[in-house]
Order: sequence, then C-alpha cells, then structure tokens
Amino acid sequence: MSTEYEAVIGLEIHVQLSTRTKMFCGCELSFGDDPNVHTCPVCLALPGVLPVTNAQAIEYALQIGAALDCELSPVSTFDRKNYFYPDNPKAYQITQAARPFAENGRLGEVRIHHAHLEEDAAKTIHTGGGGRIKGSDASEVDFNRGGTPLVEIVTEPDLRSGAQVREWGQLLRATIKQLGVSDVNMEEGSLRCDANISIRPAGSDTLGTKTELKNMNSFRFIERGIEAEIARQKEVVSSGGEVEQETLHFDPATGELHSLRSKEEAHDYRYLPEPDLVPVVPTEAMLEAARNSLPELPAARAARYEQLGVSEQAALLLSFETEWAGFFEGVLEADDTIEPRVAANWVTGEFAAELRKLDDQPLAESRVAPESLATLIGLVASKKISHGAGKTVLEEMVSSGADPAAVVAEKGLEQISDSGELEKIVIQAIEDNPKPAEQIRGGNEKAIGALVGAVMKATQGRADGGEVNRLLRQHLGL
Ligand code: ADP
Ligand code: ZN
Ligand code: MG
Repeated sequence: MSTEYEAVIGLEIHVQLSTRTKMFCGCELSFGDDPNVHTCPVCLALPGVLPVTNAQAIEYALQIGAALDCELSPVSTFDRKNYFYPDNPKAYQITQAARPFAENGRLGEVRIHHAHLEEDAAKTIHTGGGGRIKGSDASEVDFNRGGTPLVEIVTEPDLRSGAQVREWGQLLRATIKQLGVSDVNMEEGSLRCDANISIRPAGSDTLGTKTELKNMNSFRFIERGIEAEIARQKEVVSSGGEVEQETLHFDPATGELHSLRSKEEAHDYRYLPEPDLVPVVPTEAMLEAARNSLPELPAARAARYEQLGVSEQAALLLSFETEWAGFFEGVLEADDTIEPRVAANWVTGEFAAELRKLDDQPLAESRVAPESLATLIGLVASKKISHGAGKTVLEEMVSSGADPAAVVAEKGLEQISDSGELEKIVIQAIEDNPKPAEQIRGGNEKAIGALVGAVMKATQGRADGGEVNRLLRQHLGL
C-alpha cells in the first residue's frame, strides 16, 4: 500500500503599517509618488545619522498583537540583520530577532508563533530596456519604500492545504483591515505572504524538509502555488527522491514553479543587537489601550451573525468587510421584524449581484440606503409583492435610487391577492399549454415548471409562487 502524505504549511506575513511617517525617520509614507522623493539621510543611510523609533508604529503593532491574541512583550529589542543588496543601503535591516514585541497568539485555528517590527527595504525595479537613463536595461532603486514600518507575523506550521491558507489569509487580512492600521492591499504590496511548505506521512508528528514559496499578490495565487508545490513534493518523494530546501516562485500565468535559491546559497544574516536604538518598553497605558480599543473583529462578528441564524457563508461575506456589515445591520435596525437570515440573503445575494451588474459599483457609492432595502424586504415578506417582483424593484432602486414603494405603484407590481383572479389565470395557462399539462397528468411532475412560468409571464411576476403551485396542482388533480 502506498503511503498517504499530508501537507504542513506555516506562513510569514508582512504587513506595511499605514503610519504617517517611516519607521525610523520623518519621511512621509506614500504609495505611487515619483521615485526617491521621500528620502532623507536616515533612510538613505548617510554616515553619522541615528534612527528614532516611530511611536505610532509601536501603537499599531501592539494593536495587531492584541488582535492576534498574543502576549505583548514588556520589553522588545531591535537587531541588525546583515545582508548586502542595493535595496538595503545600510547593508543591514533593522528588525526584531531575539525579543519580538508579541508572542504566542492565535487567530482561528492557527497559532501565531510571534510578530515582530522591522523596516521595509527599498524597491528595485528591473527596467528591461525601459530605464529612465536613456532607455537602459538596468535595475533601478526607489527609496520611497525604504524604511516603511512592517509587522511580520509568523505562524506555527498549523495549516494543511492551499484552500485553508486562502481562507485563513482572508480572515487575517479582514482582521487587520478592521483595525485600520494597514491598507492590506496585496497588489500594492502592503500585505505580502510567504508560505513554508513540507509534506509528511499522514499522522506523523515530525516535520519534513520545507521549501519556501515567495510573495504572491493574491490569496488565489498563493492557494494555487501551494497546491502545485504540494503536488511536486509528493511526486519527488513517491519517485524515491528527497525534497530539497529551496526558495521558489510560482508563476500564475503558466502554473510553473521556479527555484530562486537553494540551501547552498542560503543567507547567514549574522544578527547583532542594534546599538543605536533603545528597547521598546510599552507603558501599562499603551498595553491597555491596545487591548481595550479593539473593535469587534471579523471572526467574532461572523460568529455573532451565525448566532442570529445567518448562514455561515453569508456571515463570513458580511463580516469580512466593515461596510457590508454596517449595511446589513442598518437593514435590521430599520425594521426589526425582518429576520436576519432573510436580510443577509438579500444583502449578499440579490443586492450584491445588482451592484456587480452595475460595473461592480462599490457599496459606498450605492444609491440604495439600508432603510430602503429594508422597505423592499418588508414588501416581499408581507407578500405585498412577489419575490420575483422584488428583484425587479431592486434593479430599479440600484440603478436610479428610486423608492421601492414608488416603483411598485408605478409598475403596478402589487401581488395579485384576489385568488379568484389568479385561479382564472391558472386555468387559462393549463388550457393554453396542453402538452405540459398532459405530461404532468401522466406522472411527470417536473413539467409543472412550464406552467408556473406561463402564469408568471401572464401576471408579469406578480403572483405568489407558492399559491400558483397550489392552484396548478389542484386543477391538474395532483
Ligand atoms: P527558519 O529557521 O527556516 O526561518 P522557522 O522555524 O523560523 O524557519 O519557521 C519559519 C516559518 O516556517 C514559520 O511560519 C513556521 O511555521 C514554518 N515552518 C517551519 N518548519 C516548517 C516545516 N517543516 N514545514 C512547513 N512549515 C514550516
Ligand atoms: Zn527618511
Ligand atoms: Mg526563522
């Protein structure tokens, strides 16, 4: 029998903090400006300068540590990580190695080993013939990013598949976004994720040799990259080989994995304590502030929605985006007779679909207020209009901002409540469609769909579906 293997994955996530200035100097942080306009002697590493720690970065970092349920260190220290590369003008990066600011946390099912503060490197741009200097084929360095405050979050190897990494990564991103301490935009690089991957015989508790998958700009790509790497490792092992420690890049366009560097070239960073910076010693007030100022975080919010009877899927969709959560809660506040499950389905279902149809209109720009969606849901729930008519009204509300009751009146969409009138239409539909009627009488109950459709057409969607079904079955002798 062949051995079953399981995958083991641990993540290292870099989060750029959205402080006003850089980690150790007063240069402004900003994305997308001309290159090298946000620089100074400190972040360019000119001789004779000294770094000063950004207090806002400490505050933001502590909030992340608290949100990840970490122990916040009473004392943490900075170290120098030495490496030579053009994006690193000091030839060392200031980071926290020996004593990070936060340890032993958890988010959902994944334990957090620690989180530490560090400064980002500058950005190297490989011009491929389009360089600034006479179209040169060169590598250029933009120091605007150099010195940006980063929090690196290191998980325990608790993840088991690419899909789990995507889902957990989305939870982490939503959690940090909720704190308002980072843009967490993967395409712009303010959230970056490296995945460490190994396999082992299922049930074993020792760790196999890991490879590291670098930096992809979406959780979908990370999921695919991880799945590709797990498949590769299983292939290597099942054909008698051994996984070698290396760093890999996944190309989402081709689905291929490329080796960036092998163990032989692995860095020895010669960490040294940073002598130019005092330790970070948060006051009791700072620690209290970080723990007590936490907003309701997405995981807790999703659990609360599920308690209200909202489906798991809708609860996750709503709680990962603050604006959507606010909109959903606005609907419930506007009319407390609406069932949360029903409101969640309208918000994440029909309403979200209408926004997508409108060129992916962001919720913030929508012309529909939670109160008017609540009115619409109320009209459907009280059977003043059918569900189908409700969709027609919603489409109009989303495109023109119209009031639901006005659309119903203007289009004459009130549900046909006179059952005598509806019965006539049903009888007519059976007469006009002898073929499906015959099939149904012959035992093919599925054919009833055609007759329901005919009635809906005749009533322009104004009939109650349940009632139509009941009358059809009655008249067909079912
Ligand atoms: P390194 O010494 O190579 O930096 P660490 O022990 O510091 O490795 O772990 C770095 C990251 O890799 C962590 O997220 C950790 O969970 C993960 N990791 C460590 N060993 C493995 C392994 N064998 N398989 C998968 N992930 C691992
Ligand atoms: Zn600077
Ligand atoms: Mg390490």
